Amino acid sequence: MECSREIDRATAYCTYCPKMCRFSCPAAEAEKRETVTPWGMMRLFEMVKEGAVDPSDEVAETFYHCMGCRRCQEWCHHDNDVPEALWEARAQMRQLGHVPDAIEGVVEDFEEGGMPFDDWPELEGVHGDDLDEIFDPDSSIVYVPDCETRCQARDTVARAGRLLELFHGNPVALLTRRNGEGVGCCGFPLLSAGDAPGYERHRARLADRLEDADMVVVECASMAALYRDDSSWGRSGDLEVIHLIEFLADRLPFVQPREPVSADGLMIHDSCMVGRQLELYDEVRALADACCEGDIGEFQFAREEAPCCGGPAHYPLVAPEASERCADTRLEQMEREGGDRLLCGSATCEQAFQRASDTDEIALNVLELVCRAFEI
Ligand code: SF4
Ligand code: SF4
Repeated sequence: MECSREIDRATAYCTYCPKMCRFSCPAAEAEKRETVTPWGMMRLFEMVKEGAVDPSDEVAETFYHCMGCRRCQEWCHHDNDVPEALWEARAQMRQLGHVPDAIEGVVEDFEEGGMPFDDWPELEGVHGDDLDEIFDPDSSIVYVPDCETRCQARDTVARAGRLLELFHGNPVALLTRRNGEGVGCCGFPLLSAGDAPGYERHRARLADRLEDADMVVVECASMAALYRDDSSWGRSGDLEVIHLIEFLADRLPFVQPREPVSADGLMIHDSCMVGRQLELYDEVRALADACCEGDIGEFQFAREEAPCCGGPAHYPLVAPEASERCADTRLEQMEREGGDRLLCGSATCEQAFQRASDTDEIALNVLELVCRAFEI
């Protein structure tokens, strides 16, 4: 089985490692079994590559017990990017026809509808304005909403449009799937489902749609990470892609929130992709400070050390109960440390915490916070 030198090196380092990162993996902690520790998954991949273990559906399934959070990397002396190796393991298994039952149909559904959800609902305007009044298709700055926001919080797309207009000075363009047409997702669900060629085809389609853009402002941190040279998952390209949080934080000196939101009980949960991938820790805090009244709470395990919510990279499909336990664990930490709501950098985290809780609005994402503070 052929792999790049980097991946061969990473799996070899893990194989001979005394599991230095064992304690850091939220999936291993939630499932309480050695097979799904970073060491366990990487060692298994090494054995498959060596021919000591035969590829099978069961082996392929094991490689899906990683959320791509990169928390293990923080404690790894070799700086091993475990998810990057496991995406490759998933791809090799898929090529050999081994796809776990829980992932069956993910790629085919994506190819058909261009998305990771069942449906692209129609978008709504806001404050009496429809989308065509809010967005300007001729703007060279293009906003790409997160799929989770696009499908679960439809009016937020229009509100983000108004917010970007306020921060930029002019309306921006919108790129998403509308009326059954267009591209609405960055394709990360394909990559993390082991369909690397499908991801590359999807990325080429997206590049066609964005060829006239001078700047692409994205709400999805995975998309930002995949397009930036300074992130470990970046694949070089010509597009200037900036995350919405940094776009807004850069322009904070020129705008003034109208109605700051109470920070009472609110704690910052550093989302993995916004944090460990894009390192937007300070930008999240700058927006929180500007948009909140009072001091926002910090976790003992914050920034690079923050655990994952259990939401990304198909983990809720493969291990739904363990995925929810990851969110529960973070919510328990929040209660112990005196909080009662979380501020998240991503809509994926917000939804993961909301699924694990009976409380309305246990989590708020940064975009929603800024919209509220600016009364949009
Ligand atoms: S990721 Fe690093 S710390 Fe974790 S098992 Fe592999 S080599 Fe060891
Ligand atoms: S990236 Fe996260 S989920 Fe994956 S092995 Fe490392 S700590 Fe575990």
